[in-house]
Amino acid sequence: MRPLLREVGVGQKGVPEDIIPWIKENRQDILQHVSIMLTNGKRANGKDIGVDDLPRVARIRYWVEPDGRALRYCPFFHRAEDGMVYCKIHDAKPKVCIRFTPWNEEIRDYALNCPACREKAP
Ligand code: SF4
Repeated sequence: MRPLLREVGVGQKGVPEDIIPWIKENRQDILQHVSIMLTNGKRANGKDIGVDDLPRVARIRYWVEPDGRALRYCPFFHRAEDGMVYCKIHDAKPKVCIRFTPWNEEIRDYALNCPACREKAP
């Protein structure tokens, strides 16, 4: 059976510390793929959340389409023409990915250490 990506970066819970820099740096490219559950039970897309909303964030989930549909792959996975795979947001990736993908000086941003990136390209 194919391993579930939810164990390795997709379908993962996020933490507010992930999204704070994305909001401050206006990383709409990332925020559009984040699902937010608010304390009032309403769901929002990450691009519609501001710093003032952070106290109302109850749950953060990765990754979704901008319309809220869950993705079965990471939108930041990139397979280059040479076959190597990369994380397109390596310098800004969420903590859950860092936990699974410790920086490796030898391979630099080659994302071999990302278990999700070891899966076939979307
Ligand atoms: S490390 Fe990057 S490519 Fe891998 S799951 Fe996380 S964000 Fe996606």
